[in-house]
Amino acid sequence: MIAVLKEGTTQAQMDHLVSWLKHMNLDVHISKGAEVTILGLIGDTSRVDIDLLKSLDMVETVKRVSEPFKQANRKFHPRDTIVEIGNVRIGSGYFAMIAGPCSVESEEQIIEVAMAVKASGANILRGGAFKPRTSPYAFQGMKGAGIELLLEAKKATGLPIVTEIMNISTLDLFADVDIIQVGARNMQNFDLLKELGKTKKPILLKRGLANTLQELLMSAEYIMSEGNEQIILCERGIRTFETATRNTLDLSAVSVLHNLSHLPVVVDPSHATGKASLVPPMAYAATAAGADGLMIEVHNNPACALCDGAQSLTPHQFDEVSHRVQRIREVIA
Ligand code: PEP
Ligand code: MN
Repeated sequence: MIAVLKEGTTQAQMDHLVSWLKHMNLDVHISKGAEVTILGLIGDTSRVDIDLLKSLDMVETVKRVSEPFKQANRKFHPRDTIVEIGNVRIGSGYFAMIAGPCSVESEEQIIEVAMAVKASGANILRGGAFKPRTSPYAFQGMKGAGIELLLEAKKATGLPIVTEIMNISTLDLFADVDIIQVGARNMQNFDLLKELGKTKKPILLKRGLANTLQELLMSAEYIMSEGNEQIILCERGIRTFETATRNTLDLSAVSVLHNLSHLPVVVDPSHATGKASLVPPMAYAATAAGADGLMIEVHNNPACALCDGAQSLTPHQFDEVSHRVQRIREVIA
């Protein structure tokens, strides 16, 4: 349920109303805009007398929010959320260019790629240390040592880092990681989401292989319900009957999510297509569709990559993509 307050409501009046609502065992989420203030009521609102609430002097309107996601809902928070990582911002016109290898493989590899993508305009470095692989015999990532190397690359370039967590038992290793990624395969690992909600770290939440956008927003809600509102949603392609691409990139997700939610939305054209040749056109399309950022896999030697070489751009290819994305952003601004 949301209550829109009248312009001119004083802080004291609002505090009084909020404490009355809290007495009904509701959580109250306050969203202050330039003109209106919106109170988002979370919890069992069935006992709230909607007519009584509407009749209060300071209340303009009261509406029930029918969607099951509340804190992630744009009705609760009309303005775009901006996720801040040091001096990098994502959302509401701030664009994240996230680039780096699928997996951290060695110090030379991650430093070389980090330097190259930074020079081409990336503002966040990616690299997997814990890898969710379909086969247990495939490279599983460098784990803690991989995170150490990402921190070296962060030191060398100043780029904030994003890397995937698979199990909450490893959370301590992420203390200096800037953004924790929840991969597609863990999008509905609700215990993991709840624990990440108790941290203060920004979370990059990828859409599951076969999940609806409402399910993605419900997963964001799990994190937010524990107090962490710093979430970046990521469209990375979904399973369809099509086999020409690794997944099917659902670009309409960008607009649908922007309409439903205030959270920033980035697009990963690498996992969506599985083919390096398809990454540039889909990166351009995602930018034109209004994405708040891109996540692109880049490897200094894709032919020898331990994971996802076929979809990895070379630093040279990424340089061209990054510059063209910048030009598209200028055109659509
Ligand atoms: C990744 O980003 O490295 C990854 C495994 O992606 P996804 O979870 O989207 O498959
Ligand atoms: Mn990958």
